[in-house]
Amino acid sequence: MTRDAVKYAIRPGGPWQRVLPGIYATFNGPLAPQHRRRAAVLHGGPDAAISGAWAAEMHGLAYGPPAGDTIDVLVSWDSARRTNGFVRVCRTTHPPEAQLWVDDDPTRGVPLHVLLDEAGHRPVPGVVPVVPAARAVVETVVRRGHLPADWRPECSRTDGCPGCWHHPGHHRDLALRNTRALLCEVVQRRRATLSALRDEVAAASRRGGALARLAMQDIEAGCRSAPECELRDLVRTSQFLPEPRWNQVLPGQRGIHPDACWERARLVVEVDSRSFHGFGDAPTRTEERRARYAALGWRVLPVSPARLRAEPGAVLREIEAAYLAGGS
Ligand SMILES: [Zn+2]
Ligand SMILES: [Zn+2]
Repeated sequence: MTRDAVKYAIRPGGPWQRVLPGIYATFNGPLAPQHRRRAAVLHGGPDAAISGAWAAEMHGLAYGPPAGDTIDVLVSWDSARRTNGFVRVCRTTHPPEAQLWVDDDPTRGVPLHVLLDEAGHRPVPGVVPVVPAARAVVETVVRRGHLPADWRPECSRTDGCPGCWHHPGHHRDLALRNTRALLCEVVQRRRATLSALRDEVAAASRRGGALARLAMQDIEAGCRSAPECELRDLVRTSQFLPEPRWNQVLPGQRGIHPDACWERARLVVEVDSRSFHGFGDAPTRTEERRARYAALGWRVLPVSPARLRAEPGAVLREIEAAYLAGGS
């Protein structure tokens, strides 16, 4: 196709539209997400893969920041491609091996092979390279400048905001909670192995990766949700409570996986709903499960995530008292 023919097709009111430099859609309506993904990797060049919040969403993760107007593509350090329009080009010195993601739910009535670029490498319809899930979550949390305000550990306003005026650690707490939730989710939902996540966190930059490294310590200990990580913070402030077992099967019992359990004190603390983990815990109904714990001689302390945050001191005293009453 000649330059003039393209120019004519994208004229005002013409049948095509220019999406990005050298990339055209052969229709003139709004772009669907799959068109934007495709255009983003074409713009990023042959080694580009979708990264960040869009990649986390493509891997089926729910706890990432919203996949907004901007799509991140990860390219190698020496790539000449630059951020343009809705595509943000992120560089890396250690590019991952991209996975091929198939757009299996194309918008009805819109052809998929609608994009082509002047460089001549024709897109494969509906197939998009994406960074692996472990890399996606780490890239999402370490590139702080790209994150929405509630994912950044510092205030985005120079004069502060009501949040940090009333509670100095506000932004860091929120950012850590979000980081923990996303990193826990990728392991909990088996989108990445523990070792893949460990490697990606270890490779993250020193400054940007600080919260990810904290979250990784909790995940290594066995935590699989943000409330469990926060419960772990609280337990670690105790003078005498040892580290509980996290999300392991109740000793001697199949099909029950308490969030936190102290075996010698026969004490269990639950902070998540049982359906959250998808362990297939047999007694998912609360009363039934409590009765079973009681029959086995275990004491159960339910703690809501909201209460854990609102009155940590009172919650810790209850856990400590229950632990001591367990006669350990
Ligand atoms: Zn603030
Ligand atoms: Zn849990």
